[in-house]
Amino acid sequence: MSLTLTADPAELTAALIDVPSVSGDERPLADEIHQQLVQLPGYQVVRSGNSILARTTGHRPQRVVLAGHIDTVPIAGNVPSQLDGDRLAGCGATDMKSGVAMLLHLAATVENPSKELTFIFYDCEEVEHDRNGLTRIERELPEWLRGDLALLGEPTNALVEAGCQGTMAFTVTTKGARAHAARSWMGHNAIHDAQAVLAAITSFDTREVDIDGCRYREGLNAVDIRGGVASNVIPDECVVKINYRFAPDLSPDEAVARVRTHFADFEVTIIDVAAGALPGLSQPAAAEFVEAVTSGADPAAGPVVQAKLGWTDVARFAALGIPAVNYGPGDPMLAHTPQEWVDVNQIRQMTQALRNYLS
Ligand SMILES: [Zn+2]
Repeated sequence: MSLTLTADPAELTAALIDVPSVSGDERPLADEIHQQLVQLPGYQVVRSGNSILARTTGHRPQRVVLAGHIDTVPIAGNVPSQLDGDRLAGCGATDMKSGVAMLLHLAATVENPSKELTFIFYDCEEVEHDRNGLTRIERELPEWLRGDLALLGEPTNALVEAGCQGTMAFTVTTKGARAHAARSWMGHNAIHDAQAVLAAITSFDTREVDIDGCRYREGLNAVDIRGGVASNVIPDECVVKINYRFAPDLSPDEAVARVRTHFADFEVTIIDVAAGALPGLSQPAAAEFVEAVTSGADPAAGPVVQAKLGWTDVARFAALGIPAVNYGPGDPMLAHTPQEWVDVNQIRQMTQALRNYLS
């Protein structure tokens, strides 16, 4: 088979679905994408494993990085693709071969772009962070990730999704004194003291923070609790494990400080903390993008930008100081389900909106 990048992006999506590319087995699709990209005039193309990178090398003042992963979760009887009316179904239809088709089509058809363009088609996004193609690219080809704005074609159902919350895991431990349950007053019950920990969790001010039009809603939740020695022993320890999702206006250090202050009366142990990502939509390159792809949107239809729930590779670019957003066809709720499908009209409309921005 041979991909035709200039074809209708919905047809291109179907062609991409029909080349299986489960994480770790992307080589046939990577070969095909590589072969097509090296034929495009005006691009420098490199390959890193099963990731293909292509960039323009002119002197326009801005550079936009457009990235999409070419791997999928395991196939669930949903290859080859099937078109039913406007619904194109198949493995990766939403996550994210429609987004990859949109980007490949634009790489081949945008004439005289208004910005320098870097396209990154990468492998192994659906598996561990260490295997993720972008992790390798960050290590081996870091200059290829540089830009004024990064767009990831992950499914957003035509919205612009920006930023993500940070996450922290910590424990709060209460200490008591063991005693025989028949003489409980000789000891001190650490599990009973955990009541104060649970009360502190519910009294914590979980904020709702608006940044650049995106609303981040924090959460603080006990996710595990353990304690107890034996049926006839007053327990001398109870450990409550807590997860804190914090808005990206807080750095990891600030989030830790907030927790330590609130739980100052307790023994707190931080297990791990991962930074969130600011949406960065007020930065000029990002603001221009949002304006370009949302102009003409019906205000009554609700927000056109929203916070990303959960971590994506957007956070990786944000950590490099590059504003980054997700913008791709398909309903993210359908990702990783056997029923995955995408509206072919949405693929075409989003490709057109992105073309307007890049031209
Ligand atoms: Zn994805």
